[in-house]
Amino acid sequence: MSCSRRQFMAGMSAGALIMMTGPTRSLASSLAHTQTIDGVRYGMLHDEQACIGCTACMDACREVNQVPEGVSRLEIIRSGPVGEYPDAEYHFFRKSCQHCENAPCVHVCPTGASHIRMEDGIVDVDADLCVGCMYCLAACPYQVRFINPVTRVADKCDFCRKTNLAAGKEPACVESCPTKALVFGNLDDPDNPLSQRLVKETTYRYKQALGTSPKMYRVPKGEIKS
Ligand code: SF4
Ligand code: SF4
Ligand code: SF4
Repeated sequence: MSCSRRQFMAGMSAGALIMMTGPTRSLASSLAHTQTIDGVRYGMLHDEQACIGCTACMDACREVNQVPEGVSRLEIIRSGPVGEYPDAEYHFFRKSCQHCENAPCVHVCPTGASHIRMEDGIVDVDADLCVGCMYCLAACPYQVRFINPVTRVADKCDFCRKTNLAAGKEPACVESCPTKALVFGNLDDPDNPLSQRLVKETTYRYKQALGTSPKMYRVPKGEIKS
């Protein structure tokens, strides 16, 4: 489905009203799950036990993907301390696109700009189709989307699809992590290091109860965020 920016903006007021009535109410509805065509379905693991909160991943993401100041595709959120000195500990939570298989942002997009790539399962934004309506920003229960102040279209983590992945490298955040707390790979390949860790370790996915089927897995440290 597609429409021009002018056509869409003309009908936006009524649509915006509908959106305000509760964009996340139908998250567990009948959206199709990802079915990739080449047996590649990218996902990521954040090992919260290995993360030291250095934010090197955030800096690398910004630099490699030329993310403007004031917005970000990735944040590491610190909480704590838990416990008493000298045993007090901090927890670090990765906030970024979860590349949901049942993605509300895709469901609400009126132009087809937000979509799941059949090649690799990445949730992406077609800049040529995006009209900047911000429906996807409102619908995302993880609050990870923003309007890029330079391109004026919706933006978020794309697993470095146009940068590091295109150059045959791992995503910038994964490359830069000094503790190997981030693991990227093909969830449909059982021999992949990511798949192997998911088989062996206890992991969780954030807000899984919403039915979004996130492809971001986490090794918990302390209390699990739900
Ligand atoms: S985390 Fe938000 S932006 Fe990313 S796929 Fe899910 S709903 Fe869409
Ligand atoms: S995969 Fe790329 S775009 Fe996504 S958070 Fe990591 S560095 Fe940023
Ligand atoms: S670079 Fe690695 S250790 Fe540092 S904050 Fe990011 S995920 Fe955590």
